[in-house]
Amino acid sequence: MMSKLFVYSEETGVLQELLGKASQSGFDQVVTAVFGSAAATAATLGEWGADVVYTVTDPGLETYNPETYTDALAGVIGLAGPDLVLVGATKRGLEVSGQVAERLELGAVSWCVDFTFDMASKTVTAVCLIYTGMGQNTYHITTHPALATVAPGTFQPQAFPGKTAEVVPAAVTVNAPRLHVLENNEKRETGRRLQDAPVIVDVGQGVKAREDLALAEELAQLLSGQVACSRPVSSERDWFPEWLGLSGLKLSPDLCLTLGISGSIQHMIGIRDSKLIVAVNKDEGAGIFAQADYGVHADLYQFVPALITAIKARSITKN
Ligand SMILES: Cc1cc2nc3c(=O)[nH]c(=O)nc-3n(C[C@H](O)[C@H](O)[C@H](O)COP(=O)(O)OP(=O)(O)OC[C@H]3O[C@@H](n4cnc5c(N)ncnc54)[C@H](O)[C@@H]3O)c2cc1C
Repeated sequence: MMSKLFVYSEETGVLQELLGKASQSGFDQVVTAVFGSAAATAATLGEWGADVVYTVTDPGLETYNPETYTDALAGVIGLAGPDLVLVGATKRGLEVSGQVAERLELGAVSWCVDFTFDMASKTVTAVCLIYTGMGQNTYHITTHPALATVAPGTFQPQAFPGKTAEVVPAAVTVNAPRLHVLENNEKRETGRRLQDAPVIVDVGQGVKAREDLALAEELAQLLSGQVACSRPVSSERDWFPEWLGLSGLKLSPDLCLTLGISGSIQHMIGIRDSKLIVAVNKDEGAGIFAQADYGVHADLYQFVPALITAIKARSITKN
């Protein structure tokens, strides 16, 4: 009997990460699904590791609705008959996976970082983060299939140039939703994607006023980088639409320069894959110093202007 791993995310980058892990996890077949207009991309998913791609093009899937997407995802899982379902823990992924797990009565775990499948018993053992990443639990899931959500950035995409996936149009019932979206406010655009920036200037609560971001912006510009932030700077001060960390983006730039960041585990999860971390903090005992490659014990309001002056004087700019 063939073992099957089914992965799903509505976000292309997260789907590529899940496919990357799936293609290396020893299952005989890697299956995924794309809904609505995204179905047009189905054939390309072979190049990211998919063997089979189910497509559902019901008009109810043209825009996201948790009810129609639950119908579609539960429907294709039923058709595919996988042993394990991995869903990207995006906001929508969490919403839909919970409803799918309930509808199909699946054992479901969250923040999965690793898993094994026992072919004989057809059961999954999953390792998951707990306490916002400060610990791990190992679960034995006895339903078939099992379901696990995976935080964006947990796994790496793998490329399979030239590989084509079998595309299977799936006839699943998508019911008229009882929930209607009245208004949809898109996130503010921040310009270049943070994920593509080679240098990140990462600002924390040590930056006191919004206008002081100009310093960080100038430094980032000199280094061909982008400015990002910790969660409170986004969620409490609303200076940026997104943040780095466990519950935010996870980046792996060449250089991450943190300004006024204390170094909480929840934040470090978002930057720990940086090639080089340089931390600026005025508190000698700040936890970030134990985690950074280089630490600058200084007041950022003195250090950053001096650094900018020095870079300009030496015309050191990073391309
Ligand atoms: C469930 C959960 C999930 C979370 N997820 C995330 C997440 O994804 N991302 C995230 O970032 N946080 C997350 N948090 C919050 C996290 O625990 C921390 O509270 C947060 O990361 C702290 O942000 P900070 O470092 O900017 O601020 P603070 O902890 O307040 O640190 C500010 C630092 O700036 C320094 N400083 C102050 N003034 C100056 C100056 N003039 N010059 C130099 N240094 C200065 C201080 O010494 C201090 O170390 C989460 C928390 C929970 C409970």
